Amino acid sequence: MSTTTVDWVTGAACRGAHREAFYPPNSIERKEERCEREAVAKRICAGCAVQSECLELALRTHEIHGIWGGLNEDERRFVTRSN
Ligand code: SF4
Repeated sequence: MSTTTVDWVTGAACRGAHREAFYPPNSIERKEERCEREAVAKRICAGCAVQSECLELALRTHEIHGIWGGLNEDERRFVTRSN
């Protein structure tokens, strides 16, 4: 039996608190603010039990926004181009 997205999402460390760290705000975000926000998200991802599943989904679906699997959109594009 294969693992579905719903199965692994229940183990996501980003559920609930700190969701705002994973996506840019609707207002303008300075570079330093983006770096700080992404650092918070990446720390959460680093301790997430489903990081590999999350990153695989984001790469497979070409997710263009936010932090997924510990990588931001630029970092995911780099990974995609490198493969
Ligand atoms: S790797 Fe990060 S974005 Fe993905 S489910 Fe875990 S905490 Fe959330």
